[in-house]
Amino acid sequence: MKNTNRIICILLCTIIIFQLTGCYSANKSTHYSFSGFYFNTVINITLYDLSNVPDPKALESEIKEICLHYESLFSRTVEGSDVDRINKSKGAPVTVSEETIEILERALYYCDITDGAFDITTAPLSILWNVEGEDPKVPDEGLISEALSHVDYHLISISGNAVTLQDPEAKIDLGAIAKGYIADKIRDFLKSKNIDHVLINLGGNVLCMGGKSNSEKINVGIRRPFDETGEAIVSASITDGSIVTSGSYERYFEENGRIYHHIMDPATGYPADSDLLSVTVFSPSSMDGDALSTALFVLGTEKGMELIDSMPDCCAVFVDSNYSVHYSKGCSKIPVKVIDE
Ligand code: ADP
Ligand code: MG
Repeated sequence: MKNTNRIICILLCTIIIFQLTGCYSANKSTHYSFSGFYFNTVINITLYDLSNVPDPKALESEIKEICLHYESLFSRTVEGSDVDRINKSKGAPVTVSEETIEILERALYYCDITDGAFDITTAPLSILWNVEGEDPKVPDEGLISEALSHVDYHLISISGNAVTLQDPEAKIDLGAIAKGYIADKIRDFLKSKNIDHVLINLGGNVLCMGGKSNSEKINVGIRRPFDETGEAIVSASITDGSIVTSGSYERYFEENGRIYHHIMDPATGYPADSDLLSVTVFSPSSMDGDALSTALFVLGTEKGMELIDSMPDCCAVFVDSNYSVHYSKGCSKIPVKVIDE
């Protein structure tokens, strides 16, 4: 696949927000919307009610500071971040921030309940596969086994604020949960400022608070996998809550007619080869939705459905390789509908 095509895949959001027309920063009437580039993705935040926002530009700066703050803690590629320091520690204990401990503990919970389908030590595999690199290729079998031998979330131990990797070659990657965690933190910050109607979109990791107004919901769509026109396959109307998608069509390359994407199966060392093209999770917390969408994608429809059905507050929409859509039990509470089967 040509590089240009790959960039299109990254930039086309997995979640489509309908009816955003008229919502520009220049529009002084009701909305204030801004974008930025953090966490290796485009973020966009829209404030639908400015009655408690005397200075939207100042608020934008504060939110961007929050993004920078978390990027400087959780990014695997930012030098000196907590994750970078852990990854370079060669097995020595590393003291990290409270927030890093908080996200790690929550991430490890998801590693546990998914029997390691979700695993925040997949970094050696992601580095080897380098799906988003210049000229990605399927790596040699031997290199995959070698990388895989350092993947096991049990290698992480936490004691107070110190994190230790039991294997000096192990590496942490919070890419499957960090955007959700940060979206929740931005929502909490805005709530503390008495701002009630907000849309937070961190590269397709979407979190709604209060709808557009007390009487108007936010309409979102889930992108039809591999459709480069950005057409939706499922739509929903949301007041509060998070929508996150994980899919094989977001970041991938092709070799000999096969797709190799960025979500790794920690059991095989290869990109997860379940029966799915995408999984979308609707949940109260975006961190939970982020971790779960990645985990369910690896688990596949059957095992994934079993797990999500044990979580009554969450709804998962699975799109399988035939483009058939499967809903979990929790979806009966959320107004989701298939646009086109
Ligand atoms: P995105 O970050 O593109 O929105 P995900 O939330 O599904 O998508 O996270 C995928 C990222 O998480 C990968 O780019 C990689 O950094 C990391 N990752 C890959 N496989 C796994 C896995 N099985 N468990 C946890 N993290 C993973
Ligand atoms: Mg995720």
